[in-house]
Amino acid sequence: GEEKTINLNEVVRETEALLKGTLEKSIILELNLAESLPTIKADSTQVQQALLNLCVNARDAMEGRGRLVISTSTITLGEEDGPFSELMAVPGLYVMLSVSDSGCGIPEEILPRIFDPFFTTKGIGQGTGLGLAMVYGIVRGAGGYVHVESVVGQGTTFYLFFPASEDRP
Ligand code: ADP
Ligand code: MG
Repeated sequence: GEEKTINLNEVVRETEALLKGTLEKSIILELNLAESLPTIKADSTQVQQALLNLCVNARDAMEGRGRLVISTSTITLGEEDGPFSELMAVPGLYVMLSVSDSGCGIPEEILPRIFDPFFTTKGIGQGTGLGLAMVYGIVRGAGGYVHVESVVGQGTTFYLFFPASEDRP
């Protein structure tokens, strides 16, 4: 892939139509995009792939109905008592992309394994177990971080953090 200076909001908007086609009518898709965002340095096709992987998982977790929320925002990471301090992120400005679903949630005992290649709880022919491994690789490759919060029976939110690009457009 080719690394360029991209805007995450544009990637989300370009993915929206594709997403709507893969979601059941009874799944509500909500976009919650920041008014303006710093750019990031990443391959937009890879970021789109990561977003799609998260949304397919969300759809699978919701079994036909629910609410899928895609959000973007700007956040400072790496401050000692700041948000997501457990990530031990390189201090600086990041662009956050989150995907939140009202699905089944992820049991605590499998949470440490979900990013492992080939880990899946889906049946044979249903899941490859590669979706989240790919998400992780794409985000880390762009110098970013992944975080997940989940409550069984309530839903799951994946947070992707990409370092804001130094370039001023
Ligand atoms: P696959 O979707 O092929 O199973 P992934 O790497 O995409 O592989 O996901 C690995 C596992 O993580 C899934 O099988 C599922 O158990 C769990 N998982 C991922 N996303 C979610 C989600 N949004 N809600 C509940 N479980 C999830
Ligand atoms: Mg998947």
